[in-house]
Amino acid sequence: MRSHYCGELNETMIDQEVELCGWVHRRRDHGGVIFLDMRDREGIAQVVFDPDVEQSFAEAEKVRGEYVLRIKGRVRARPEGTVNKEMATGAVEVLGKELVILNRSETPPFQIDEYSHVGEEVRLKYRYVDLRRPEMLTKLRFRSKVTSNIRNFLDEEGFLDIETPILTRATPEGARDYLVPSRTHSGQFFALPQSPQLFKQLLMVAGMDRYYQIAKCFRDEDLRADRQPEFTQIDIETSFLEEKDIMDITQRMVTNLFKELLNIDLGEMPHLSYAEAMQRFGSDRPDLRIPLELEDIKDLMQSVDFKVFSGPAKDPKGRVAALRVPGGGKLSRKEIDEYTKFVGIYGAKGLAWIKVNDIGQGIEGLQSPIIKFMPEDVVNQLMQRLAAESGDIIFFGADKEKVVNEALGALRVKLGEDLALIEREWAPCWVVDFPMFEELEDGSLTPLHHPFTAPSCSVEELKKNPAAALSRAYDMVLNGTELGGGSIRIHDQAMQETVFRVLGIGEEEAKEKFGFLLDALQFGCPPHGGLAFGLDRLVMLMTGAKSIREVIAFPKTQSAACVMTDAPGEVGDEQLRELSIRVRKPIAEISD
Ligand code: ASP
Repeated sequence: MRSHYCGELNETMIDQEVELCGWVHRRRDHGGVIFLDMRDREGIAQVVFDPDVEQSFAEAEKVRGEYVLRIKGRVRARPEGTVNKEMATGAVEVLGKELVILNRSETPPFQIDEYSHVGEEVRLKYRYVDLRRPEMLTKLRFRSKVTSNIRNFLDEEGFLDIETPILTRATPEGARDYLVPSRTHSGQFFALPQSPQLFKQLLMVAGMDRYYQIAKCFRDEDLRADRQPEFTQIDIETSFLEEKDIMDITQRMVTNLFKELLNIDLGEMPHLSYAEAMQRFGSDRPDLRIPLELEDIKDLMQSVDFKVFSGPAKDPKGRVAALRVPGGGKLSRKEIDEYTKFVGIYGAKGLAWIKVNDIGQGIEGLQSPIIKFMPEDVVNQLMQRLAAESGDIIFFGADKEKVVNEALGALRVKLGEDLALIEREWAPCWVVDFPMFEELEDGSLTPLHHPFTAPSCSVEELKKNPAAALSRAYDMVLNGTELGGGSIRIHDQAMQETVFRVLGIGEEEAKEKFGFLLDALQFGCPPHGGLAFGLDRLVMLMTGAKSIREVIAFPKTQSAACVMTDAPGEVGDEQLRELSIRVRKPIAEISD
């Protein structure tokens, strides 16, 4: 149907006959001459119809925005003074000879040719129209380049692209499962994979040695900002490699990607232990573009006459930390109040602060509602430890360790952004030496990654003190976002059973849920490990998009629904009967 894409036209084609297919981006009537901007995937071309080509001119008059056309015409240079430098094809235009309307269009729900303040719901409802906007197309095109670059890299490194099932059994990654009822096994359900974790491990048992897959994962999570119930991972697994080898391959994969697609040198990726990351940045995904650091002051605050500080300072599970912010002395009371509210989101009960007006004047040069509670020598030691300077503000966190880390960790990032302290555009790092488990409020342990992660200690040590065990896990972090994470896995049945026991999974339950894995561990399982990168987040960061929904063709809304297809939806009685399912009335209706 066509000889060229609209966006391909250029001056070398002057006098050539071309055939173009595409959408009417814009139509203008200029004193008897009709100008059509025609758009396709590759760009926009201007087509001109003069009244002397009568029939086509008459057709061109009928044309409206988003009509689908095929045109034939001759490329010519644009007359002097009408060259459009903003447009890739702006030096030429097509003198139209024939025009066929292939399809009409209703007036689109929003303008495509200019930025419009249309709400996201409308954009998602008419996503096929939204995706016509060049900026959306650019992002999807970029995403496609990312996946092909990664495929090429991994193919060259000897990885096999292998698909794993979507209808499967639950794989625990810490979220709820999406369930699919089975018609042939009445009353039974498949789970959609939260990740291909167990299958990729089984592929290692099968001797595939190096596996990857650009895999869909499904997690029914409580809705937090910027999560999708289905998302894509670059999923990787290898055999007979140590942590450092796996980190090396995947680091090269990511650096190569940034270099080739964005010409960005990511540079070195420092390794931080989990403990160090928490201590210095209050987070296991530290944003290293921001130079602020948390400083421990627990020892100094044990004996102060200020319970807000001395309480947590004496509590073995407490933390008292300070965050010195150079130049923060200029923050107003109102701004400080806003930050106090902000840390409240993370459970902090308040936000103590000291402004350093003039460090030369000692305690006299400080301004703070809390300073009266502290002996002068403590204040002096504090200033010394923090290397405080005039013009600083110092914020404090004193609470359970978790609250302080989350509150000051988030405050650190917010201040970094608000006060424009960001030093570099890209700051990647690896976080290693994670604890195996996290303690829940009821004292039980839950895996920090997933229960197949190998600990760095022996079975005996793990049994003796599970809460203290570290894992052989590693996360790659970029600009405060976890890009990917993985680990060396357990390949020994006794170790896997021990981990299940620590997690309170009894023998019966383990057999029921993971019997196939425990079996496989008995049939020659090699040492293996891998990791998975979040493709959506990676593309979001690389394109500077504000949300992962902007880099997914058909994302779900924040409430995990698709407003375009109206999914999820109800199903008919017949279908339910076949599945042996009866729907209970929603709780709200029942209680009415
Ligand atoms: N399956 C893990 C996840 O989805 C990644 C891995 O350990 O390879 O987070």
